Amino acid sequence: MAERAQIAVKGTVQGVGFRPYVYTLAASLGLTGTVSNDADGVHIDIEGESVADFIRRLPVEAPPLSRIINISVTPLPLQGYTGFTIQESRARTGSDSMTFVSSDVSVCPDCLRELNDPADRRYRYPFINCTNCGPRYTITRAVPYDRPNTTMADFPLCAACSLEYHDPRDRRFHAQPIACPKCGPSVEFKVQSSRFHVSSPDPILGAGEVLRHGGIVAIKGLGGFHIACDAMNHQAVAMLRERKRRSNKPFAVMAASVEVLRGFCEVTRDEQALLESPKRPIVLIKKKHPDAVLDPLSHGVAPNNQYIGCMLPYTPLHSLLFSDREYDQQNTKGRTVSVLVMTSGNLSEEPLVHRNDEAIEKLSGIVDAVLLHNRDIFMRVDDSVVRVRSGGYSDQTPALPCSISFFRRARGYAPEAIALQGSGPEVLGCGADLKSTFTLTKGSFAIPSQHIGDMENYETLKFYEECFSNLKQVYRVEPVAIVHDLHPGYFSTRWALEEGKKRKLPIFAIQHHYAHIGSVMAEHGLTDTVIGVAFDGTGYGTDGKLWGGEFLLAGVEGFERIGQCKYIALPGGETSIKEPWRTAVSYVVDAEGAHAADRFAAVGFTEKYGSHAIEQVMTLARSAVLSPRSSGAGRLFDAVSALLGICDRNTFEGEAAMALESLTVDGIAEEYPIVITEENGYTVLDFGNTIKALIADLLNNESRSIIATRFHNTVASGITMMVQSLHKRTGIIDVALSGGTFQNLYLLKRTTALLMSDGMRVHANVQMPSNDACISLGQAYIIRERLKRA
Ligand SMILES: [Zn+2]
Ligand SMILES: [Zn+2]
Repeated sequence: MAERAQIAVKGTVQGVGFRPYVYTLAASLGLTGTVSNDADGVHIDIEGESVADFIRRLPVEAPPLSRIINISVTPLPLQGYTGFTIQESRARTGSDSMTFVSSDVSVCPDCLRELNDPADRRYRYPFINCTNCGPRYTITRAVPYDRPNTTMADFPLCAACSLEYHDPRDRRFHAQPIACPKCGPSVEFKVQSSRFHVSSPDPILGAGEVLRHGGIVAIKGLGGFHIACDAMNHQAVAMLRERKRRSNKPFAVMAASVEVLRGFCEVTRDEQALLESPKRPIVLIKKKHPDAVLDPLSHGVAPNNQYIGCMLPYTPLHSLLFSDREYDQQNTKGRTVSVLVMTSGNLSEEPLVHRNDEAIEKLSGIVDAVLLHNRDIFMRVDDSVVRVRSGGYSDQTPALPCSISFFRRARGYAPEAIALQGSGPEVLGCGADLKSTFTLTKGSFAIPSQHIGDMENYETLKFYEECFSNLKQVYRVEPVAIVHDLHPGYFSTRWALEEGKKRKLPIFAIQHHYAHIGSVMAEHGLTDTVIGVAFDGTGYGTDGKLWGGEFLLAGVEGFERIGQCKYIALPGGETSIKEPWRTAVSYVVDAEGAHAADRFAAVGFTEKYGSHAIEQVMTLARSAVLSPRSSGAGRLFDAVSALLGICDRNTFEGEAAMALESLTVDGIAEEYPIVITEENGYTVLDFGNTIKALIADLLNNESRSIIATRFHNTVASGITMMVQSLHKRTGIIDVALSGGTFQNLYLLKRTTALLMSDGMRVHANVQMPSNDACISLGQAYIIRERLKRA
């Protein structure tokens, strides 16, 4: 019997080939009707004998990039449609509804095949894309996601492209960024240094020539510029480091294939699956033992680091950079570059450069040449950086980041929404100043921005505002409240205060570590009080001291600080964060008292830094004004790293802690002693005896791997003991772990395992980084839940 139904589909259903999919499914079932798009999602009006079949199959066979959140079906009286049509997008309707903006998608295998097929009309065309791949968020100016609302509006379709665009049987049907060499964007190559002369008229081959000869090239990508050079050319890498004034911070690399990466990295099956997934993040992968490496990367790519940030080509243009071998056989002398350094195209500490004029102006002192194109980047998005948290990536839905740990959440992930429990008010969380993000809530979702950067200059603030006005507009959010960090000096705090005043909105301040715990509560839908463990660098505490190793009872209405790591002086404040040996001096004095001086000689500090400098630091540490007290767990890891002599300068945040983690080995259960005391009503975790025992091990010439592992085990154990005692007092079994220190996967895994064996329910950040990037989510969530209850 013929039936008719109106079907509304919500979720990520635009720009992912959903309407052509509906058309094909309807046609295969002999159904008639219409399908259309608007800012609320996809609307289907369907009529015929097998409507029930259609409804059953609709979510099951949906396109790979779609993410259906909700399907609602309303029966209607028969209309008597004669065919099935795809209608133009409709203007927006209701304001409480939302459609999700898709993140950018790497080039798909079908498009790659055409890219490399000399008979195809898009042979070697760097902007090839289809309904399953290509730019999305970075080119979308407004919703609905239609060509006039993207930066592709400047490129009218040629007849051939137009045919494909309008043909429901074509795999480019309604692919908004569709283009070809005749009608679409084009690339341009400009050599700026007289050192290089290029023989090829083809811009991409020209770039290849300069790279092959050791030059540095700015390459316009999807969400901004990269700066590239041959990763195996030591001189080129050293030159790039010098010009970018980037001391030790590792560079990411892009390799032609996983096989190439295997030449210098131990790539696991899970890491491979992640590298090859359509999201194509930078994956931090363990370096191979130097003896096992045949074709080594330049030492300058990731000095003193056990990991290399690796990615695969994700745009057609990247792919062409690596595939000029056959095409250019006559011109190519020597080998093709198979691994490129691909570092963010920016001036130190500024956001990614994305405009052509800006690239030529700002990057001219760094690069020898520029590979440009004329498709504008509307939204800047950096590469995402992740690590595989545990095995089983390929056994789970690849679209869900269940077993990865984010360092930076950006391209391929932003602006995906995070599902919250139930509907709630629209709130803006402004985040913190390091690894800054903001988060908007709407309906039953939170929308965190992509990684914005460290808020320490005007350029970053401008990017923050750009991104805010864009996400606010495309998701149609009107915040009713603004939330910021408790730190009065933060840029983000001052911005929130101004913004709140301008919009006449209530403004709330949320303590840093409470917000960390709030982000975990948001991700896991927790609304009751949890035991929060925030292990972090430093954040502003309610007592004006620098917190960072905190045990909180945290709920929606507020938090209570129950325990902490012992306060230790940071000699000279900021300086000791950059030079961890100073913090180590503080810890040793605290642990060893009168014996400290002997110990400095024994661990090699006296020889390395001189007794005079050590004396000065000890004097400095006694001044409460010049040396703030901190309970930061990150500082403890810094100090231990310095004691082991593996890192005495943090040239980037977390360097010392990462170096320490990379020494850990599996299969060691021993730990050092640890003391729990009561001070001023707080339970205090005191690592004094830990430091003593660790120094004794050092003096016994115990291996650094074993010491580092015992130390990690001790911290995990200390956390577990504290949580146990809190559990006994309160009966709470939900534990939330957050903070930058939990980016340390050895610590996270061991702590989780210990807590779980004690019967606790353990929650951690999975959809957001556990570093300060998650603060905005926690802020927005806490106030959203409070407003719901009010
Ligand atoms: Zn494609
Ligand atoms: Zn065309």
